[in-house]
Amino acid sequence: MASAPFDPFNLKGKVALVTGGNGGIGKGIALGLARAGANVAVAARNQDKSAGAVAELEAVGVEAISISCDVTDGSAVSAAVADCVERFGGLDIVVNNSGVNVRKLPQELSLEEWQTVVDVNLTGVFLMSQAAYPEMVKRGGGKVINIGSMMSIFANETLSPYSASKGGVVQFTKACAAAWAKDNIQVNSILPGWITTDMTDVLRVNSPERYRTIVERTPVKRFGTPDELAGTAVFLATAASDFVTGTAIPVDGGYSIQS
Ligand code: NDP
Repeated sequence: MASAPFDPFNLKGKVALVTGGNGGIGKGIALGLARAGANVAVAARNQDKSAGAVAELEAVGVEAISISCDVTDGSAVSAAVADCVERFGGLDIVVNNSGVNVRKLPQELSLEEWQTVVDVNLTGVFLMSQAAYPEMVKRGGGKVINIGSMMSIFANETLSPYSASKGGVVQFTKACAAAWAKDNIQVNSILPGWITTDMTDVLRVNSPERYRTIVERTPVKRFGTPDELAGTAVFLATAASDFVTGTAIPVDGGYSIQS
């Protein structure tokens, strides 16, 4: 009998939940996972934006749902995972992508601004990963993909809570990878370089000089697009990466390779 062809990048029959999957990098990754065959739950707050993303995902030919969720709210996160499992029958892949930023010098930040950034970017990753863990154990394994940043490696004077939270994402990724290896759950992070989204449009409009400096410093001499994160995310979501865990993979046009 002929054996099935080796097809490690196939996600048919898998269920993915992408936080902030309704726009920017999250939507680029959600579409990549859908093109590889996964059914996708988009978990975010803005339901109009999420409805648009769901329509785009369905057009790929998979099932897609929108779940209203603020990742800083532990009970909303647990409910989102329960809803996904009820509607899709399980959960195999979580992409912790939701993120926010406040640009101010450290001495000018209020505690509330600090907490907002850290709660979304780091505590949200913890809450969703913890809620997803028992569901992945039930499936006999899973994949957690956390979205870090160049600010997981570098820092910037106006990005202290963002840099602290994204550095934390990489360390939290390693801790979960170590803890959950026995459960066949691989946990990795992706460090996007500078990508054109709503988040960086602010920079392009308000700080054109900084924008130009970033392009100049990037070896490929341009910002990336959200779609350009999809390939690495699909790799980390599939059996192709079963021996890869705890890593932080830059997808950055070479931004991080030179000083
Ligand atoms: P966007 O601003 O386009 O997207 C941010 C997403 O986060 C939105 O979908 C938003 O959905 C969601 N979000 C924000 N707050 C919450 C919350 N409390 N609960 C649930 N979801 C929330 O930004 P990007 O696509 O650029 O960013 C995506 C990720 O990539 C972030 O983690 C960011 O830090 C990271 N990143 C981005 C880079 C870039 O150059 N663009 C570079 C490096 C990292 P909603 O408002 O509907 O809740």
